[in-house]
Amino acid sequence: MKTIIEPFKIKSIEPIRFTTVEERTAILEEAHYNPFLIHAENVMIDLLTDSGTSAMSAKQWAGIMEGDESYAGARSFFRFEKVVKKLTGMKYIIPTHQGRAAEKIIFSVVGGKGKFIPNNTHFDTTRANVEFSGAVAVDFPTEEGTRPELIADFKGNMNIPALEQFIQEKGAENIPVCFITITNNSGGGQPVSMRNIRETKEVLKRYGIPLYIDACRFAENAFFIKKREEGYANTPVADIVHEMFSYADGCTMSAKKDAIVNMGGFLAMNDEAIASSARNLLIITEGFPTYGGLAGRDLEAIAQGLDEVLDEHYLTYRLRSVEYLGNKLTESGVPILQPPGGHAIYLDAKRFLPAISPDQYPGQSIVVELFRQGGIRSVEIGSVMFGTYRADGSLQSPPMELVRLAIPRRVYTQSHIDYVIEVVIETFERREAMKGYAITYEAPQLRHFTAQFAPL
Ligand SMILES: *Cc1c(COP(=O)(O)O)cnc(C)c1O
Repeated sequence: MKTIIEPFKIKSIEPIRFTTVEERTAILEEAHYNPFLIHAENVMIDLLTDSGTSAMSAKQWAGIMEGDESYAGARSFFRFEKVVKKLTGMKYIIPTHQGRAAEKIIFSVVGGKGKFIPNNTHFDTTRANVEFSGAVAVDFPTEEGTRPELIADFKGNMNIPALEQFIQEKGAENIPVCFITITNNSGGGQPVSMRNIRETKEVLKRYGIPLYIDACRFAENAFFIKKREEGYANTPVADIVHEMFSYADGCTMSAKKDAIVNMGGFLAMNDEAIASSARNLLIITEGFPTYGGLAGRDLEAIAQGLDEVLDEHYLTYRLRSVEYLGNKLTESGVPILQPPGGHAIYLDAKRFLPAISPDQYPGQSIVVELFRQGGIRSVEIGSVMFGTYRADGSLQSPPMELVRLAIPRRVYTQSHIDYVIEVVIETFERREAMKGYAITYEAPQLRHFTAQFAPL
C-alpha cells in the first residue's frame, strides 16, 4: 500500500518557538506543573486538546468573509441550519458558542434534583453540567472498555444490560434523557458501534426515555463503523452518519471537534416543547436563536467544516495519523490504551509508572516530563481530572490513569508526529527517575483546569 499522505497542501504557516530543557524546567515551575497554566507560545507541539485547535480550509476562511452578521435571520444561520438538519435529521437546530453551552441548556431544561443522566462515559464538562443542574451523572462503559490493554473494535460502547438494570432500579420517570458519547472521549476516543447505538435506543424506547448523542466526533465514529463493523464497508460515511442520528431524539455538539472550527457548537432535537424551553434559555445566556453565541462568519465556517469532515480521504488520513503514532509507541514498548482512538493516543500511566500510586498522580508526572523533555503539551485524564474525595478525605480514583496526546485536525505533519514519538520513547526510557506529584491548590469543580502541583 502507498503511504497515506496529508490530503491537503499548506497555504499559511505559524512558526514554532524553540525552547531548551532549562527554559522549560523554569516554565513548568512557574505554571505550577499544570499544562493548562503554560503560555501557548512556550509550547512546541501542542497536544493538549483537539478542541478548537484545527486548521481551517481556504473555503472555511472564504466563509468567514461571506458571513452575514445580521442580528436576526442571517443568511449564514440558514446555511448552517440546513447543513445540520441534513446531517442529523433533527427538526430544531440551536446554535451555541460551544458544546458545554448546549449541555448547560439541555440539562437546565431536563435535569435537576432527583434526576439521573446515564451515558456510556460522560465527558468532564457534560458531567459538570449534569451535576450543576442537581442531577446525578452515571457512566455505563462496557467491561472491555475499562481494560486498557485489550484490543477490541468498539470499546466505546454502552453497557446496555447495566443501563437497563439501572433504569429498572431508579425508575424511568427519574431518567429524563440518556446520552451516548461518540466517540467515547473519556473512555479513550474509542468508537461506539452502530449496533450498540441501535440497541441502546431499543431499550430506551421501551421505557420512553429519549436518546441524545454527544456528537462531538460523529464523523470519526462513523468512519470506524465503516472500517470495522460488518455490513458498512461499502456504505458512504454520510449514510452511516444519517443512520447513527436516526436513532437519536437529540444531540449536543462541540463544533470545535468534527466541524473543524475554532469555536462553536449546537443543540438539536425533535421535541418541540424542549426546543422552545431551550430557546428561551438560549436568549438569556447565548443570544437570539439565529446566532446563539456565534458570529455569522462562525456559522459559515461550521457549515463548511461539517461538509469537509465527511470526506473519506480526510478521515483516512485522520485515523491513520493517530494510529501511526500509537503503533510506533507500541512497537517500542510504551504502554498505551489499545487500540488507538480516533483523535488521540492515551498513554497508560498505570503501566508506564507502576511505582507511582494514583494518589501521587502518575499521569501528571508523565505530562510534566513530556513538556520538559520535548516541549510537548499533553493532559492527564485520570485521578487529577476525575478524582473525588471519600468522606474520610482519601482519593477515589477513576478506573484508568491516562495521559492524552490529542491530535489537532490538519495542523501537524508526519515529521511533527515522528518527533513526538521520539520524545515519548525517550521519556519512557527514563521513567525510573520520575516522581509523583501532590496537589497544592484545587477548585471545587473541574479542578484540573486550575490545580497547582508540587513534585514529591
Ligand atoms: C469537547 C467535548 C464536549 C464539550 O465541548 P466544548 O466545546 O469544549 O464546550 C462535550 N463532550 C465531549 C465528548 C467533548 O469531547
